[in-house]
Amino acid sequence: MPIPQRRRLVTAIPGPISKELMSRKAGAVAAGVGTTMPVFAARAAGGIVEDVDGNHLIDLGSGIAVTTVGNSAPRVVEAVRAQVAEFTHTCFMVTPYESYVAVAERLNELTPGTHDKRTALFNSGAEAVENAIKIARAHTGRQAVVVFDHAYHGRTNLTMAMTAKSMPYKHGFGPFASEVYRAPLSYPFRDEVDGPTAARRAIEVVEKQVGGANLAAMVIEPIQGEGGFIEPAAGFLSALIEWCTANGVVFVADEVQTGFARTGDMFACDHEGVVPDLIVTAKGIAGGLPLSAVTGRTEIMDAPHSGGLGGTYGGNPLACAAALAAIDTIVEDGLTARAREIGTLMLAELQRMRAVDPRIGDVRGRGAMIAVELVRAGTSEPDADLARAVAATAHAAGVIVLTCGTFGNVLRFLPPLTISDGLLAEALEVLRDALTTLA
Ligand SMILES: *Cc1c(COP(=O)(O)O)cnc(C)c1O
Repeated sequence: MPIPQRRRLVTAIPGPISKELMSRKAGAVAAGVGTTMPVFAARAAGGIVEDVDGNHLIDLGSGIAVTTVGNSAPRVVEAVRAQVAEFTHTCFMVTPYESYVAVAERLNELTPGTHDKRTALFNSGAEAVENAIKIARAHTGRQAVVVFDHAYHGRTNLTMAMTAKSMPYKHGFGPFASEVYRAPLSYPFRDEVDGPTAARRAIEVVEKQVGGANLAAMVIEPIQGEGGFIEPAAGFLSALIEWCTANGVVFVADEVQTGFARTGDMFACDHEGVVPDLIVTAKGIAGGLPLSAVTGRTEIMDAPHSGGLGGTYGGNPLACAAALAAIDTIVEDGLTARAREIGTLMLAELQRMRAVDPRIGDVRGRGAMIAVELVRAGTSEPDADLARAVAATAHAAGVIVLTCGTFGNVLRFLPPLTISDGLLAEALEVLRDALTTLA
């Protein structure tokens, strides 16, 4: 590793150089662009982010589930370096290049299901979600879209409408796109309902309020990300798919956060053998370079007319080179297995903490996508203040940790799969100390 894999604090957090940069940020960057930590990065590798003051922070965020293969992963660096010297851009819609096709081939092969597939590449998760809707509408000739409680699908106009939470994602930014409807989710910690029953509850809402015949697509995160790492009860997703298939509705899995080994399978859908019609990927796809994709059944993907899909940068050659290298890294280094190991280690330790701390309402997740839901001791009442305070204490101690959830009370852990067991254990120790201090 180019950076020693140890937590090291040489200044207070933030240090003087970060403070100075934060004040330059305030004078130059729009106030709406917030940061989790007031700390500027200098380098990152393995499980460590080094800041501009020389502090080494343990990374439990991966830049929001992006650097799954590690930051500046060696194969990614080499592939991007080679590509940048050849050409940086021609636009795939003008003079195409092989790496885009190769990424499409890999995605067609790796995503759930053995049916005939096609892929289109874009830049961001939100852009890919929007394109999945365009494709589903073109295929079905219908307009309505169903999403779920607590959903997060992005910040563009259509995806804001699809996202559930008002503050900070939607507040003041309306009007929102029409023909987006919301159904109840399965949320095992907060409802007593099993998966098939929760699916029937959702389907009833859709049938009554939208009507299957009007519905182009149902879009769901197989494990919700920003909404609180909510894993629906077993059987929920498969019952929804069954209904979609029977009603000619395109079932879209938004695997922007869960994809590419994050959950211990290549895709979260694989866990239950769920095969979506379309799957949307981004974040972990290219080791940190901006790339996203829609992959799915050929007859659906090929519905839009030629020229109907695309964009100037979609499938940029640097991002495609990075994606091929990141996917090779996942497959050749056995990173799905590593994600499972990380999950086993974290869940065991967090369950031990939960056994003696009634403020830890729930510990959940799969692979390297693990969360703790904090509540007022012994109740299920969300405690967002505690989550904020634990995160702030961890930050000050040199651990990058993120919060999430509709109620803001979930600590979420998304370490890079290159983190060592030692760093993970140390980060959990910091969290345990933070909870003890805040008792
Ligand atoms: C992050 C995220 C998006 C949006 O991706 P961007 O690249 O930020 O546009 C969409 N869906 C899910 C599930 C996400 O986690």
